[in-house]
Amino acid sequence: MQLRKSFQIESAHRLPHVPPGHKCGRLHGHSFIIEIVLDGPVDPHTGWVMDFADIKAVFKPLFDQLDHNLLNDLPGLENPTSENLALWIWTRLKPTLPLLTQIVIAETCNSRCIYSGPGT
Ligand SMILES: [Zn+2]
Repeated sequence: MQLRKSFQIESAHRLPHVPPGHKCGRLHGHSFIIEIVLDGPVDPHTGWVMDFADIKAVFKPLFDQLDHNLLNDLPGLENPTSENLALWIWTRLKPTLPLLTQIVIAETCNSRCIYSGPGT
């Protein structure tokens, strides 16, 4: 069974490694949608894989660092592409959320990045 929980953050960033004049090199913001995906068995007693509230609680310290902040200021996000944001979240979430199988980052309605762990 798969659970997907979405969060929205409002964050600013600039990409330092794009060619001169590229629009992503300028400071700008996104309403990023972050989707946390878990795969696991349904517990026969509770009837769920995991309490969605527990996913929210585990993600909260990261949410608080990301939301309404300049992503470039966060250690490890000096080049805050969606790909690097997915890796950054995965690294910090996986130890406490072993059922984690995917991080989806949508920086706009039609541009998203999916990370499914090392080797992908
Ligand atoms: Zn951007």
